[in-house]
Amino acid sequence: MTIPNITLNDGQTIPQLGFGVFKVDPAETERIVWDALEAGYRHIDTAAIYGNESGVGAAIAKSGIARDELFITTKLWNDRQKGDDPHRALDESLEKLGLDQVDLYLVHWPAPANGNYVNAWERLIELRDAGKTRSIGVSNHLPEHLEAIIAATGVTPAVDQIELHPAYQQRDVTDYAAARDIRIEAWGPLGQGKYPLFEEEPVALAAQAHGKSPAQVVLRWHLQQGYIVFPKSNSSARIRENLDVFDFTLTGDEQAAITALERGHRVSAHPSEVN
Ligand code: NAD
Repeated sequence: MTIPNITLNDGQTIPQLGFGVFKVDPAETERIVWDALEAGYRHIDTAAIYGNESGVGAAIAKSGIARDELFITTKLWNDRQKGDDPHRALDESLEKLGLDQVDLYLVHWPAPANGNYVNAWERLIELRDAGKTRSIGVSNHLPEHLEAIIAATGVTPAVDQIELHPAYQQRDVTDYAAARDIRIEAWGPLGQGKYPLFEEEPVALAAQAHGKSPAQVVLRWHLQQGYIVFPKSNSSARIRENLDVFDFTLTGDEQAAITALERGHRVSAHPSEVN
């Protein structure tokens, strides 16, 4: 099984499928990330606010996997966007991860009510230039936020990590990003299990047709849309199932039928609400 790499707008490459650790219990993180690395994942998505960077770091150390085979993302939390604080925040994350450099550092939310996200982006550019992170990007940024940071700095983020699953595809953001070569990372790719996505007819029919699970069909849909995904699971069997999505291809009709499930159904917070 080979996980495809995607080339970002800064020339760096990222494995298109990774493992996300939102809501993975800090006490369990080392074991679960170790399990994911053993299964074959090489891309891990964490964040300072998840409280589990130390567990990710412990799993990386224990794995003995060469650093250049891993792709590690972490994120700057909203209360660290001011002044020089992003520099200290990334140093703290690196310490917990046991790394000198992450592969991707993201501004977690624009937190527009605080008015600091342009400053945060300027500091991330400095952090990239200092070699503390190979690539920089943002998360939960709407076109107006992307417009503001690009206008202020002339630097386009490599990715925008946004809530995206069949019932909520954020076309305004994906169109804006596609036009500027910003890659979309789809968080909550399975809708966080918050609506009966797996029972939707196009998903169930494709699963039957290909002898795969509904979750595998939805992940395949993301990959064929060109999105980067990192589904989360605590279960060893599902961790492996979610990786086993490279031996089938959805037909154009199957892909289109899943795309047609769009109905503006957000399952988590809106960027204007998180400050
Ligand atoms: P997800 O859509 O990956 O859903 C995870 C849930 O789906 C699991 O708890 C499990 O119940 C279920 N699941 C997983 N694999 C399954 C399978 N094979 N069959 C059936 N059910 C399965 O949601 P998520 O964890 O929120 O998103 C993935 C990652 O995205 C996170 O771990 C995190 O790294 C990132 N994320 C980022 C943000 C952000 O603001 N940037 C927000 C949320 C998540």
